[in-house]
Amino acid sequence: MKRQEMTDQLKLGDEWDICVIGGGATGLGVAVDAASRGFRTVLFERFDFAKGTSSRSTKLVHGGVRYLQQGNIRLVMDALSERGLMMKNAPHLVKNQSFVIPNYEWWESPFYGFGLKAYDWMAGNLGLGSTEFLSLEETLTAAPTLDPTGLRGGIRYHDGQFDDTRMAIHLAMTAADHGAVVLNYFTVEDFIKDSDEISGVVVTDSLTGIQYRIRAKAVINATGVFSDTILRMDDPDAASVISPSQGIHLVLDKEFLPEDTAIMIPRTDDGRVLFAVPWHHKIIVGTTDTPVEHPDIEPLAREQEIDFVLQHIRDYLTKEPTYADIRSVFCGQRPLMKGSGKTAALSRDHQITVSGSGLISITGGKWTTYRRMAEDTVNVAVQRADLPMKPSVTAALPIHGYLEETDFESELYYYGTDQEHILAMVREEPSLGEQIHDHFPYIKAEIYWAVYEEMCVMIEDFLARRSRMLFLDAKASVEAAPLVAQLMATLLHKDEAWIRQQVDAYNLLAKNYLPTDKSINV
Ligand SMILES: Cc1cc2nc3c(=O)[nH]c(=O)nc-3n(C[C@H](O)[C@H](O)[C@H](O)COP(=O)(O)OP(=O)(O)OC[C@H]3O[C@@H](n4cnc5c(N)ncnc54)[C@H](O)[C@@H]3O)c2cc1C
Repeated sequence: MKRQEMTDQLKLGDEWDICVIGGGATGLGVAVDAASRGFRTVLFERFDFAKGTSSRSTKLVHGGVRYLQQGNIRLVMDALSERGLMMKNAPHLVKNQSFVIPNYEWWESPFYGFGLKAYDWMAGNLGLGSTEFLSLEETLTAAPTLDPTGLRGGIRYHDGQFDDTRMAIHLAMTAADHGAVVLNYFTVEDFIKDSDEISGVVVTDSLTGIQYRIRAKAVINATGVFSDTILRMDDPDAASVISPSQGIHLVLDKEFLPEDTAIMIPRTDDGRVLFAVPWHHKIIVGTTDTPVEHPDIEPLAREQEIDFVLQHIRDYLTKEPTYADIRSVFCGQRPLMKGSGKTAALSRDHQITVSGSGLISITGGKWTTYRRMAEDTVNVAVQRADLPMKPSVTAALPIHGYLEETDFESELYYYGTDQEHILAMVREEPSLGEQIHDHFPYIKAEIYWAVYEEMCVMIEDFLARRSRMLFLDAKASVEAAPLVAQLMATLLHKDEAWIRQQVDAYNLLAKNYLPTDKSINV
């Protein structure tokens, strides 16, 4: 996936079948669906792929136990089916994760246990394992740091877990493998219109400042919480369709949950769901649900949100985390739908609308259902733009790097078949096997791979989304930043000024991922 080669294709000036605005889960899914049907597809992302909400999820591929509690059966069944397909098509990226629900009240075991049995049943032959009722001893073996006071037992169930940005990069590569042009750091700034009908976009390469006029038969707005901005670029009077709501996660060391089992608290004292999930040798704990006025690409965790998560997880653990234990805090905004607009296709989870100008907007949904959202969106685009009807093939389409027998113990597992290329680089130049930071397994060869093949152009792209250091330990990522900048500068032919600018910008960004505790200084 080479940025320059992709940019060169824009210069040919041809008309595209489908142009996608937004390179998060939704837009990338649309690009994969469209390109794999054989449509000429181009995608533009204003920052890096998955810089927005799609890098800030709880990392679950799930039917949604919460929706089950709300009785939203159709939604759960659809999501469970998508969970199964995601695992089948990306076995190198999605793991089977077991969860324990601790039971402190007598009614919790039958209530959640039978609900989760129904969850298993709904997954049918795409199920990940049977729900089990656990004794007190079995519960504490699975999650030894659970507070035993008043604990009666637990329930074990299964869902999927993944690395959201890895999936995003591999979706971009899958789209590229099928001939799509996918570009990061390209901002769509305006529409091209022929007698009020959208016939393309005006887009600027933020790295060079060069502007392009791109003609396309269908233009798709897949900008998540930024959907309103794009709708108003088309029609300044367009009604708002998004109500953003933010959620935060705290990242803690593994000692707070040393086994590989996650904890799920279905209902905290104020009625929220709380997860503590093992992830890349750390634990992520979250989340919150705070309505916000305006969408933000780098939303900030509020002190009350951090306090909320800390206080609630302390109620369930023997070793109680404090501010000083937080390695990183990340915050994302949910693209929740307001439910207005002319609905062309509707499921209870996502909505596709077509504006008077022909702009197709896809809103709502979740990471787990990205494939289904994409299929529905491309179906609408085909009709709207009079493209030849070709059925979607993504239900059985392997995702880039597909590797059936994935060894999840390998540090490079999530590259799938691409790990061979990284290992070959190390064989050729053993110094590329050196770690970037003592506390993390990431090696120098991964920077080379990210720059050459994964369109990594800023040090943040590597530290936040090719590796996950920013999300796993913000302070360690700041320590690694100068080395990453140095290596990337060599590969990208950049000078000392670029290195300084990159490191300074990165340090500023990383402060947002550290709690407000003044004892932690960057
Ligand atoms: C706290 C939290 C936890 C979650 N946990 C889970 C989970 O565990 N499992 C799950 O399935 N789902 C989860 N979700 C939901 C899931 O993360 C989102 O539904 C999904 O990531 C949304 O993707 P998106 O592509 O629509 O939006 P985004 O990822 O925000 O992508 C939109 C992109 O559009 C780009 N853009 C905007 N304007 C322009 C422009 N003018 N030109 C070019 N590009 C532009 C932005 O830069 C952005 O990258 C969670 C959500 C949150 C907030």
